[in-house]
Amino acid sequence: MSDTTLLAFDLGGTDLKVGRVDASGTVHDFQKLPSRANEGEAPLFEAVTTAANTVGSHAARGAAGFGSPGVLHPVSGIIVDRTPNLNLSADFPMRARLESVLGRKVAIDNDANMAALAEHTAGAGKGARVSLTITVGTGVGCGIVVDGRVLKGAMGGAGEIGHMPLGSTGPACGCGVVGCAEPMASGSGLIARAREAGLDVSNAREVFESSDPRAAEAIARMVDHLARMVSAATALLNPDVIVIGGGVAQAGPKLFGPLEASCKRYMLASHRQHLRIVPATLGERAGVIGAGLAAWQLQGNG
Ligand SMILES: [Zn+2]
Repeated sequence: MSDTTLLAFDLGGTDLKVGRVDASGTVHDFQKLPSRANEGEAPLFEAVTTAANTVGSHAARGAAGFGSPGVLHPVSGIIVDRTPNLNLSADFPMRARLESVLGRKVAIDNDANMAALAEHTAGAGKGARVSLTITVGTGVGCGIVVDGRVLKGAMGGAGEIGHMPLGSTGPACGCGVVGCAEPMASGSGLIARAREAGLDVSNAREVFESSDPRAAEAIARMVDHLARMVSAATALLNPDVIVIGGGVAQAGPKLFGPLEASCKRYMLASHRQHLRIVPATLGERAGVIGAGLAAWQLQGNG
C-alpha cells in the first residue's frame, strides 16, 4: 500500500485531522491531534509536522492535500484576508508554507470545499453531476462540486450560502449584515430562538427532542430559513443532490421531513423533481478524504 496513498490534512480551530487517502477516497491511519491553531504560526506548523510524521512514513512522496478554514485563493494559495479560526497574519501564504514544511506539492482549499469533494466523490453525493454539501452546525458551510471539481469562485469564496441575504430583518449575522440566512438557519440560531422563547436548552439535539410547542415553533422557523437558503442555491445551480451534514443533520427525519416539505413551497418544480436531499455519510472524516482526493487531482490521477 505504501505507494498508493497520499497525505491529507483537515485543519480546524481545535483539531488537526490527518490520514493517508487512496485514489478511491478510502482513508487509512485517520488520526486527530491538537491543531494549536490559536497559538500562532510556529506552533501550528509544528503540529502539521508532527501529524505528517505520525502517518507520513507510509505515504508516497506524492502531493499532499490540506483543508483549511478561511477563503483560500485558488491560484496563489493564500488565505484571503484573515479567518477568525487561525491566529495568522492577513493574506497568509498558506500553501507556500505547507509546501516548504512538507517538502511536496500541496493541494489546498477551504475545509467545507474539501468535505464537499469527499461527499460528491465517495459519500452521499456519489453519482451526482452537481452537488452541494451543506454543513449546518454553529454556522452554515457549503461546498459546490460540478462534474467532480470544486467550484471555487474568483477568490476561492464560492458557496457562502449562509450569507445569502434572505430578508431585511432578524438577528445580525457575524458578518454584520442584518437578514443573512446563517443566524436563522444554523444550529446556533435554532438554540438562540428556542432560548428566546423561554426554553432551557444547550444544544440543537435538545430542541429536536423536546415535546414543547415552543421547540416545534423554533424548529419550524429554522427549517423555513434553511429551505429558503437551499432553494435560492438550487435556483442558481440546479444540483441533483444536496448533502446536509453537521450537528443539526443528526436530527434525521425530524429535520429532513419538514425540510423537504418547505422546499416544495420555494423551489421550481423543474429543479425539485429529481433533486435528492440526503444526510452526509462521511462524518468527521470528510475533510481528510476530500483533501486526499484533491491531492490525487493535483497529481493528475484523480
Ligand atoms: Zn452574513
